[in-house]
Amino acid sequence: MRGAMVTNKENNTTTAIHADYVLIADGANSRFGRSMGTSREKAWPYGTAIRTYWQSPRHQEPWIESALDVKDRNGNSMPGYGWIFPVGDGTINIGVGLLSTFKNFKDVNTTHLLDSYAHMVADKWEIDPTKPECKATSGKIPMGGSVGPKIGPTHIVIGDAAGSVNPFNGEGIDYAYETAHMAADVLHDALVSGDAMALKRYEQLIDDEYGQYFKVARLFARVIGQPVLMRELSRVGIHSRTLMEWVLRIMANLLRPDEIGPAEAAYKAAAKIVKLFPNA
Ligand SMILES: Cc1cc2nc3c(=O)[nH]c(=O)nc-3n(C[C@H](O)[C@H](O)[C@H](O)COP(=O)(O)OP(=O)(O)OC[C@H]3O[C@@H](n4cnc5c(N)ncnc54)[C@H](O)[C@@H]3O)c2cc1C
Repeated sequence: MRGAMVTNKENNTTTAIHADYVLIADGANSRFGRSMGTSREKAWPYGTAIRTYWQSPRHQEPWIESALDVKDRNGNSMPGYGWIFPVGDGTINIGVGLLSTFKNFKDVNTTHLLDSYAHMVADKWEIDPTKPECKATSGKIPMGGSVGPKIGPTHIVIGDAAGSVNPFNGEGIDYAYETAHMAADVLHDALVSGDAMALKRYEQLIDDEYGQYFKVARLFARVIGQPVLMRELSRVGIHSRTLMEWVLRIMANLLRPDEIGPAEAAYKAAAKIVKLFPNA
């Protein structure tokens, strides 16, 4: 690839941009990436998320809130997890996400799920759940490095286009920046040395940085898709400050390298337990 055709929708003109190297950063749907041969590892979990904003007098709270137990208006548990981010501009961001490993994933209407969650938290956050500020934004989220190949002879794929979202918590902004940083590093080498083979180091950098962590995270995605196990983990975890701190550090990718091995062992053990509850 030696560049791209760029269409300016305002004046409907198309310009050819030539480049020695191209960074593909066109997000989760990545039509550009697909045309260069990327595809998602179908057997790996992916996520879907939806969010919008509500006026709230609590918009300046210093804490975010996460919920592992989203309930409908009748108090029934729904698959998925919810979050609330106070934005500080008069609004709060409320959203829900769920993973493809969740039971009945394909049947879940995320708009209804968000509506249920907004009603669930309405009193506490003093919002009118029927009056969001704007239409909700939703999207499919490839995760855990599930999209590849991540390099070609003259291109590198980064961010959501490379499926870089963290399956533990749905964060993708960090990973988009980080993969861009790694790509810039190898591009620099390629430009300085005049050798396109320098791009190969990108795959190694990605693997060193995320390989093992994402493997554990994909396992975690399967574990939390099992309600019985999730209930047990929440019950035990919620009563142990040490365990919760450990879980939070795993979820935010803040483990020290020497802690990743034990975490992987713990999740492998959890995966064995999952097999005991195949229909849970
Ligand atoms: C509902 C929802 C909530 C989320 N919440 C969080 C969160 O709280 N924290 C977090 O860390 N992550 C969150 N994420 C994930 C996060 O948004 C993404 O991981 C992150 O934006 C990825 O950045 P990116 O630059 O790779 O892709 P994007 O942000 O998707 O950027 C890609 C850009 O490319 C443009 N583009 C695409 N195709 C073309 C084309 N052919 N020509 C020109 N331009 C093109 C798009 O318009 C877009 O601007 C959320 C995602 C969703 C769907």
